[in-house]
Amino acid sequence: MDKNVSEWRNYIRQVTPYAPGEQPVGHSIIKLNTNENPYPPCKGVRDVLSSFDYEKLRKYPDPTVSELRSEIAKYYNLDMGNVFVGVGSDDVLAMCYMTFFNSDKPILFPDITYSFYDVWAEEFKVPYETKTLDDSFRIVKSDYYTDNGGIIIPNPNAPTGIAEDLDFFRDILDHNRNSVVIIDEAYVDFGATSAVALLNEYDNLIVVQTFSKSRSLAGSRIGFALSGSEIIKALHDVKYSFNSYTMDQLSIKLGIEAIRDEDYFRDNIDKIILTRNRTYDQFKFLGFDVYPSSANFLFVKPTGISAKELHAKLKKNNIYVRYFDKPRISEYLRITIGTDDEMDMLIMAIEESV
Ligand code: PMP
Repeated sequence: MDKNVSEWRNYIRQVTPYAPGEQPVGHSIIKLNTNENPYPPCKGVRDVLSSFDYEKLRKYPDPTVSELRSEIAKYYNLDMGNVFVGVGSDDVLAMCYMTFFNSDKPILFPDITYSFYDVWAEEFKVPYETKTLDDSFRIVKSDYYTDNGGIIIPNPNAPTGIAEDLDFFRDILDHNRNSVVIIDEAYVDFGATSAVALLNEYDNLIVVQTFSKSRSLAGSRIGFALSGSEIIKALHDVKYSFNSYTMDQLSIKLGIEAIRDEDYFRDNIDKIILTRNRTYDQFKFLGFDVYPSSANFLFVKPTGISAKELHAKLKKNNIYVRYFDKPRISEYLRITIGTDDEMDMLIMAIEESV
């Protein structure tokens, strides 16, 4: 065979893919591994689903997604020109990488953080440097004073659940007037303070949020970025040069309902926070190390059993939690907050395992 025949293989983009949490199927599974909301979306979402005119799917959706963007803008007291939407915040963040991280200088993010950040950097060939969290898993703000090609930090951080306050981010922004700073607020609604309040002071700030967690719509894939109009225009230019119709007709309608129902949203969050606080106390009682969380998950270090072993034992009992076999965190589990009943069953299964 001609040895040049397989040359195309040399030009395949080499990436180590992001490994999403398992999505097991079946009944009687307690799924606490991907930070989904244990409660259903609001009633308006159900109403849209039951009355949606399937004939609408014949046409392309509105490429500007103006209805959903203006609803999000209204919620945050911004203009539609300050809102960009995408297929989950993963899509929005990937677009941000493509649009803003084009410098020869490295972008910066924490060493322990959302494990997609380095995957996108590899994928888009963006140089990057990770900054080591301190011994209490806190971000050290002075690490972000060095020259860089951009910064991305989640608040609260994942998988630790630890949040920083607005002064912390203001300080990082003050030291980084020359690069784009992205704050990934996937879990902000569960107890952290949003940096939306800083948007009118910093034109290089992007706040990214999602409907996947606090609005119970992980299955609909809706995420958004809030920023100044120049940043949002740049994002749209890149999006239209990639895929004009990222959001489907149905998701747009579901998103509008989800952001309108403020009462349901607040009740849902309050319930999750109460369950989180109760579960935190139970882990303390078991003698586990557990971090104060501002997210819909807890980061815990078991005692009397390794995290890896406990993860495997729970899985045998049909309870899925997240284990990361990575430096510094291989002795921890990230456990999503489910319903009270689910958390009781988890604690019982743990008591039987240790
Ligand atoms: N950021 C962080 C920190 C996350 O944990 C997640 C969820 N995996 C995302 C962004 C992406 O969420 P989604 O694409 O569902 O909006």
